[in-house]
Amino acid sequence: RPMALLVQKFGGTSVGSVERIQAVAERISRSRDDGHDVVVVVSAMGHTTDELTGLAAAITDTPPQREMDMLLASGEQVSIALLAMALNQQGVAAVSMTGPQVGIVTESTHGRARILEIRTDRIRGHLAEGRVVVVAGFQGTSSGVGGVAEITTLGRGGSDTSAVALAAALNADACEIYTDVPGVLSTDPRKVADAQLMDEISCDEMLELASLGASVLHPRAVEIARNYGVLMVVRSSWSDAPGTRLTSRRGRPLNQAGLELGSPVDGVEQMDHQAVIALSHIPDQPGIAARLFETLSGAGINVDLIIQSTHEGSSNDITFTVAEADLEAARSVSQTVLDSLGGELAAEGGMTKLSISGAGIMGRPGIAAGLFHCLSQQGINLRLIATSEVKVSCVIDADSGRKALQAVQEAFDVADAQVELNPDLSSSDEPEVRGVALDRDQAQLSVRHVPDRPGTAAALCSALAERGISLDAIVQSERQHGDGSRDISFILRKEDRSRADVALAPLLAQWPGAALEEGESIARVSAVGAGMPATPGTAGRMFRALADAGINIALIATSEIRTSCVVAEQDGVAALQAVHAGFGLGGQEQHTAQGSASPLDS
Ligand code: ADP
Ligand code: ASP
Ligand code: MG
Repeated sequence: RPMALLVQKFGGTSVGSVERIQAVAERISRSRDDGHDVVVVVSAMGHTTDELTGLAAAITDTPPQREMDMLLASGEQVSIALLAMALNQQGVAAVSMTGPQVGIVTESTHGRARILEIRTDRIRGHLAEGRVVVVAGFQGTSSGVGGVAEITTLGRGGSDTSAVALAAALNADACEIYTDVPGVLSTDPRKVADAQLMDEISCDEMLELASLGASVLHPRAVEIARNYGVLMVVRSSWSDAPGTRLTSRRGRPLNQAGLELGSPVDGVEQMDHQAVIALSHIPDQPGIAARLFETLSGAGINVDLIIQSTHEGSSNDITFTVAEADLEAARSVSQTVLDSLGGELAAEGGMTKLSISGAGIMGRPGIAAGLFHCLSQQGINLRLIATSEVKVSCVIDADSGRKALQAVQEAFDVADAQVELNPDLSSSDEPEVRGVALDRDQAQLSVRHVPDRPGTAAALCSALAERGISLDAIVQSERQHGDGSRDISFILRKEDRSRADVALAPLLAQWPGAALEEGESIARVSAVGAGMPATPGTAGRMFRALADAGINIALIATSEIRTSCVVAEQDGVAALQAVHAGFGLGGQEQHTAQGSASPLDS
């Protein structure tokens, strides 16, 4: 076999004890025997990072962020030194390096710094002299421009990002993420015992899953792999099984403007001839959404975006889009369902869907805000908003379509070659659902009585973005209050919840009657699959699984390759299990997290 340059990353569990560090050293030694050059990235041992966080919390609720980074970065400094010793002990020449020693240059934002640049000369020097280089994950150094260079960390789980970034910077042949599961599974094996291993998954799907709660990979690691075309594999630290391969399109050249920055939007898409169907004042009880979307798919109608939001009182609104050609059929099917339930129906064609795409869009709060702002500047009202980690879509009047496209292309500096008009979604050999995930770190908020005019969604998102708060699943109600105002609901990270109040206060003061309403504790269960747009009935099957489990859906938000339902927090795990089983993702084999089942423990 030809010699390759490999980046191998070992997570906390994999280096959790001296025995495991020795086992990892043996594995690296085998790669050396095969003739490969190896750069290793390690996390802190076991639960070290949690323990360090606990120590800080015992002293203060508000530790200075600089000191937090000083503290947390120490964990990885222990494991790199021990692993380098273990390698040397086994006769493999190795040297350990901290992030600052390598020159992993990041933004100066403590606690969640993005990587700007990786200097590779010191690493290459060691490799050329035959050494394995063991690099501390999760940490870097701010550049010191306009100040002093400081130790930074990338955010919890960030060692994956260190590894993929190194692979991109070194132009490595592969980045292997070794962990305590056999690879990427159809869901979290700690919550669903019969989760199944995937041979491969696209970066777009993985990015969605990772941001929706699949903690097996840091979402930013997947972003880097997608953007730069890094060949990435997730596999078990305890076996030689091949694991899961992440597939991506051809990457772009390394970005001089900043490895993790660069242009976050790399495509614009427009779908003409769309129709919006809005059902309002329908009963809020389990099974309604299932019945509606099953009936629609039974009639052969492929539904695209679906939005359901909560309202004061006990009724629901469900809004969805279909191709204009299906408008009449969808209207009459919906009417039949409404006949037995009560409620109102509005249906309207002549719509266009405009989307921007790129890796990690929702992780960068300014992007969605920028899109909404750009459209509001053109006087365009947003009929429907759908967000995902790889795409933000707006449904607008078709009359404004071309004008909107041009404005958005300019605002995000997107070349003509990256614009897709009316892409064909009719066929796909991808699975409709590849995996499901559960996220319990989210809170739901509603702003009631938002004025119905261009710019309100933009103003909301911008106010939050300015404070670094990113939103997810922004749902604008179709229903209008007596004064013509609407409600906007959204989901955000729990930890950002209290800062959101502060960020939104000035805005709410400008909107007469507007008020913030606290949602209940929520869990979000999501299904992700690249074949979803081409498969009618996916949403109906998901809602059916939840209905049959007796779980009520508080909010529905879909985008092309994902369907998310917000449920009560205590229903979260049951919802995940129901959806996993509902899509037939379970199997015979049990893949419990191997933390305690490592051969080393027996
Ligand atoms: P490491 O310390 O190696 O980085 P992590 O704990 O960060 O490991 O990630 C591995 C864990 O991710 C697994 O033990 C598993 O419980 C969890 N997980 C969540 N969703 C998935 C999924 N879809 N596939 C595999 N593992 C998952
Ligand atoms: N040690 C860090 C953490 O626990 C980084 C990582 O493990 O990826 O978050
Ligand atoms: Mg991890």
